[in-house]
Amino acid sequence: MAGIYIHIPFCKQACHYCNFHFSTSLRYKNELLAALLKETELQKDYLEGEMVETIYFGGGTPSLLEISDLRLQIEKIKQTSSISKDAEITLETNPDDITEEKLVDWKEVGINRLSIGVQSFFEEDLKWMNRAHNAQQAKDNLDLAIKHFNNITIDLIYGHPLLLDEKWKQNVEIVTSLNIPHLSCYALTVEPKTPLYKMIRENKKEDINSSKQSEQFLLLMAWLKEAGYEHYEISNFAKPGFRSRHNSAYWQGEKYLGLGPSAHSFNGISRQWNVSNNNIYIDSLTKNIIPFEKENLTPLQQLNEYIMTSLRTLEGLDLKKIPKTESFKLQAASKKFIDSGKIIRVREKLILTQKGKLFADGIAADLFF
Ligand code: SF4
Repeated sequence: MAGIYIHIPFCKQACHYCNFHFSTSLRYKNELLAALLKETELQKDYLEGEMVETIYFGGGTPSLLEISDLRLQIEKIKQTSSISKDAEITLETNPDDITEEKLVDWKEVGINRLSIGVQSFFEEDLKWMNRAHNAQQAKDNLDLAIKHFNNITIDLIYGHPLLLDEKWKQNVEIVTSLNIPHLSCYALTVEPKTPLYKMIRENKKEDINSSKQSEQFLLLMAWLKEAGYEHYEISNFAKPGFRSRHNSAYWQGEKYLGLGPSAHSFNGISRQWNVSNNNIYIDSLTKNIIPFEKENLTPLQQLNEYIMTSLRTLEGLDLKKIPKTESFKLQAASKKFIDSGKIIRVREKLILTQKGKLFADGIAADLFF
């Protein structure tokens, strides 16, 4: 079982908090898409014939692609890999790109899951983030999307200075009242080199309050539990049967192939990542060379990755999957978190409690070998 990720590195405008790789110039879009087709061909043996269960178009903004370009990319993947008949094929979309015509086209080329970057239904929040869409588009086009797709996930952001708890509640309620089956909710982080980072340093924007973020995360967990969502990963909530198969495979350590600038791949032993620069990516593929760096993972690095990802999931860390010596060490190291109510042990599994989920990354780092 394997997955394929395709990074489309273009956006209409730069959201102030974003540190993904993208360009707001679409000048070399055609050249980049040609390079992407070339890379797909060159990488056809990377997954060693494993059945591909999920395909994910992320970015950037893949909903900017013309339908003919999207079709070409999907056809190339189908020619070069074994794709499962019921593969999950996700397209990340921004609300302003959604039209009735596009929804029909996306379905027709095989997209069966939409990930919609709403972030907030409030105009002032969207302006604060410098999103390309407005609040009306978020509401109207979500209504439109529901008519065509039943497998939809919505991204929301919490913990920014404008988001009072009442507004946060309304954002979540809009999604749950529409019975959207999946939500990804992220605490706003201020990454170096982003416009937001600069604005906060220059006192042009208020800084993030981490205790307010924790409170909003606790509220979120309570509301979504009440609404019948499974909190199956720190940032992800799903109605039964609607977990993201693509991301779940990442968290279970399955192989994946990443295509496009900045995309990462993992084959069980090594990880590699493509250059985060559109021009270098295009030039290099013109010469049939994939511009990537690679790291072979030592057994300890693999173990640490397992600790990091498994602790973030509902199922937790399975001690049976760890070599005996490390398992004993881990049980001893986790005792302080069990005593402080941040981890519970259920048979052979270590699982974060609600309190523990507030400190997930710190706990994992503390348990690393
Ligand atoms: S649309 Fe997404 S990828 Fe593009 S700038 Fe905004 S957050 Fe970043």
